[in-house]
Amino acid sequence: MNSTPIAAEEGRKEVTSPQKMSRYNLAEVDLLRENGHSFVDVAKLGLKHDGKCCLDCGIMRRVDGQNKPCKGPVKLELRGAS
Ligand SMILES: [Zn+2]
Repeated sequence: MNSTPIAAEEGRKEVTSPQKMSRYNLAEVDLLRENGHSFVDVAKLGLKHDGKCCLDCGIMRRVDGQNKPCKGPVKLELRGAS
């Protein structure tokens, strides 16, 4: 028998959602992988803004590239909704 465990851990980290990429017409070459972030030109997202931001956590990339490691996709949660 040959039971192949299929990538159980896949999708745990550093996976920029393909939906996001296709939504903005982005290709892998458009991404700047740095510190776990997937930076892309903000302009490519249709915003008139300089710089790059992370597709996953949404942080703006610092010009010096000294961003803290990516925390991964932002989870929107309502905390104590009033
Ligand atoms: Zn990030």
